[in-house]
Amino acid sequence: MDERVRAGAARSELLRRFPSVDEALKRPAVRALASRATPELLVEFVRATLEAWRERARAADVDANEFARKLDADAWIADVVLRVDRERRAGLVRVVNATGVVLHTGLGRAPLHGEAAERMSTAARSYVTLEIDRETGERGQRDERVGRLVARLLGCEAAIAVNNNAAAVVLALSAFARGKETVLSRGELVEIGGSFRMPDVMAAAGTTLREVGTTNRTRLADYRAAVGPATALLLKVHTSNYRVRGFVEDTSPSELAELAREAGLSSFYDVGSGHVDAPNARSLDMLGDEPDVRLALESGVDVVSFSGDKLFGGPQSGLLVGRRGPIERLRKSPLYRAMRLDKVTLAGLERTLELLLEGRGDELPTRAMLCADPMRLADDAAQLARSLNTLRGFTAEPVASTSQPGSGSAPDVFLPTTAVRVRHAALAPNALARALRLGEPPVFARVHEDGLLLDPRTLLEGDAERLLAAFRALVP
Ligand SMILES: *Cc1c(COP(=O)(O)O)cnc(C)c1O
Repeated sequence: MDERVRAGAARSELLRRFPSVDEALKRPAVRALASRATPELLVEFVRATLEAWRERARAADVDANEFARKLDADAWIADVVLRVDRERRAGLVRVVNATGVVLHTGLGRAPLHGEAAERMSTAARSYVTLEIDRETGERGQRDERVGRLVARLLGCEAAIAVNNNAAAVVLALSAFARGKETVLSRGELVEIGGSFRMPDVMAAAGTTLREVGTTNRTRLADYRAAVGPATALLLKVHTSNYRVRGFVEDTSPSELAELAREAGLSSFYDVGSGHVDAPNARSLDMLGDEPDVRLALESGVDVVSFSGDKLFGGPQSGLLVGRRGPIERLRKSPLYRAMRLDKVTLAGLERTLELLLEGRGDELPTRAMLCADPMRLADDAAQLARSLNTLRGFTAEPVASTSQPGSGSAPDVFLPTTAVRVRHAALAPNALARALRLGEPPVFARVHEDGLLLDPRTLLEGDAERLLAAFRALVP
């Protein structure tokens, strides 16, 4: 017989050895998966697995004998188990953040204060006074209270809240400058993570970008020269995630605010991360030149915007704060209706603001992590290293390292910390990091040249125990 004909016959014979989906589902090892996947999913996974194996059986270079042995041993069941496991790991699950990046965008930025989370949970499960006046029983304004709390905290006239700071910027650009020109320094044409690029955002908001100055120097005279009949808005954007150093000149927000007033224009300052000083709370001055929201307001610009879930320490939201007239203009924009907060977020934001006003700002997890005492971090690291050293195959030692604020806040600020460097006898740092990400509970850590770094700064209450449990689960 011809070689090709023989190979074809061997493959046909191989395909005949496959169990049907019904037969496959009756295998005890498959039936045992019933507690971990719905019957529909199990059928889907078995069918997809057998299909993938048939595909491999048809490949020209398949070793028919070897493949037949695997089929007879039901080796495909391991792939069904993998699919079941992957499905169980999917979705939003709690993780341990041992990266030392406080506002880790990939891990959900600011973790909330327990009391804020409590309010959110109650609001989610019940009816709430979202848009109703309890005195009159009539329709009210949903973010009226948040507006008053923000005004009290920051000493401004009014405030409104939307879904995130990106939405806040779009709302302001659209309300103040749709169909007209917005003036922005070439040094502030920023991209904030992925798809938020200033020129594109302006186009989407329907305003024409008028660039002035250069990357490193933009003077007041540049703005003044750009103002014409089509100008509506002077914009300032904090370059959150990078810094220009050296021969640099910037125009201050107060100079811009004054020019806007002179020329009858609006002025708007996107400060990004929402650094605020709160009564009775430790200052965040370790963050260097990260703009302070209250100082930004004092510059006299009409409206300042910032994220609620960066340094501010609340749920994902964008706050627009400033003078009453301009804020009312934002509220009347048709876009506001599309960007307003839901009851759950509002509940969390309200409680976060109350905590800041009550002088309990230091209790907000992000602020507590940023201000963590280096001595306490060293103690935590030493204790963690001791526990990890008791696990077979692992060696751990405290090492001096740095943590970062994250989320593009203060990109050149490195906070001194003590991390734990972990090595495993058989696993390279990258493999260990992957095993921990896929482990139970999932742990995220920083891979360093010669080990895995665990930073105690970003561990929340109970996380040290969770982390040890995850390591223990790796020991055979
Ligand atoms: C982070 C940031 C944004 C986007 O804020 P989100 O809350 O992520 O939507 C916009 N502008 C600046 C300057 C920022 O730092």
